[in-house]
Amino acid sequence: MSSMPYSRSDRLVAASGAGHNAVPDLRSWLRKLAATDRLAIARPGVSLIDQLAAIGKRLEHTSAVLFPAPKGHSIPVVSNIFTDRNWVAESIGVPPGQLLTRFQDAVRNRLPWIEVDNAPAQEVVHKEVDLLRQLPIPKHNELDSGPYITAALLISRNPKTGIQNVSIHRCQVSGSDRIGVLILPRHTRHYFDMAEQAGEALDIALVVGVHPACILASQAIAAVDEDEMEIAGALLGHPIEMVKCKTNDVRVPAHAEIVIEGRILPRVREPEGPFGEFPQYYGPRANREVIQVDAITHRAKPIYHTITGGGMEHLVLGEIPREATLLEHLQRSFPSVRDVRLPRGGTCRYHLVVKMDKTNNGEPKNIIMGAFAGHYDLKQVVVVDMDVDIDDPNEIEWAIATRFQADRDLLVVSGALGSKLDPTTDNGIGAKMGIDATKPVDVDPMVFKRIHVRGEEDVDLTQCLADDAESVAEKILAE
Ligand code: MN
Repeated sequence: MSSMPYSRSDRLVAASGAGHNAVPDLRSWLRKLAATDRLAIARPGVSLIDQLAAIGKRLEHTSAVLFPAPKGHSIPVVSNIFTDRNWVAESIGVPPGQLLTRFQDAVRNRLPWIEVDNAPAQEVVHKEVDLLRQLPIPKHNELDSGPYITAALLISRNPKTGIQNVSIHRCQVSGSDRIGVLILPRHTRHYFDMAEQAGEALDIALVVGVHPACILASQAIAAVDEDEMEIAGALLGHPIEMVKCKTNDVRVPAHAEIVIEGRILPRVREPEGPFGEFPQYYGPRANREVIQVDAITHRAKPIYHTITGGGMEHLVLGEIPREATLLEHLQRSFPSVRDVRLPRGGTCRYHLVVKMDKTNNGEPKNIIMGAFAGHYDLKQVVVVDMDVDIDDPNEIEWAIATRFQADRDLLVVSGALGSKLDPTTDNGIGAKMGIDATKPVDVDPMVFKRIHVRGEEDVDLTQCLADDAESVAEKILAE
């Protein structure tokens, strides 16, 4: 699909080295999904208002969806490029069991990007901007204030050093060349505060349609002035090619589909929201920062990527980098910690499950306290033993049911900082709950010996079951 001069797929895969089998851009990943029956194609004419998100939502556990010609637009839209963590692992070319360690490795060993002069992302340049006319931007959840750009990397530069930051923000289309943006107190906010205090706008770019590794890397819980595009390069095993924007100095991925160039304006705040968020509630409307759009560039035939707020793709994308960070944080103090999960039921943010190889009584409570120090979003931590499958919510509940007593194994901390998007908190102030669902050390092994039927895992059903089930059943039941 991409034009030949830019088609570097073969070289990049060849250069990606041992252990890496990553695809180099969004299109390669979509090709892989199509070739393995995981890319549904919608009929033309699907409405960008609600209907596109509705179809995506129905398929969010099953397949990606490509909308070749949504109503009123010639630019195709794609959604659900991840439906679970296994797809994420596949997109960066690692087995699911190595996903977190691979991500940790990339955060520790970033790979600087390289600058190129020509980019597919700039084949078409619009200096006259009309967002909704030029781009197929959908409205997603029912009470969202309108169309939102949801899957764009927001790239900004430290105004003093030029070091870049990459993150994802919800971006409301507020006018033909105006975007309302939510900027939480992290790195983009830090750079914008520096610019605004000097009375300046902060130059930015919104980049839509990039390799999954770039999206994943943008969610890394890295330090300020650690460029997430270098993490993406390390994930892929080759440097990301970047190009300078047409109207400012921000560098963007050359193989992106679409780039929106602009500036976050100083001392301007306008209403933004409501918008459907990861806790499955709406983030409220309030006066927030504004991006003035200066240009749109894109491939000759671009593809637009959208993510439904609070949908599976949103949750999965936040989950992996947070798990990797929390695992690293815990293992620094507790070598007995082996794995962590942020389960769906806890919105992939608020509830953590820790798997440990327990050798000391009491240590699970230390681990619980350590985990709460690792990220303020966490409000519940469950610690389980090595024999519990932490990908199965029933296993976790079973561990709590049979290895936990509330008066002995429960830890509650009140009045701590939590997530402001948790509607039960008092503007972010809330309680923490830790559950030690591990069995005691030095107990009679028979007490916690899990029952098991010998040979269950070795049964070959094709050898054991009759081919003519219906007629045999009929014969026996007739007598
Ligand atoms: Mn950052």
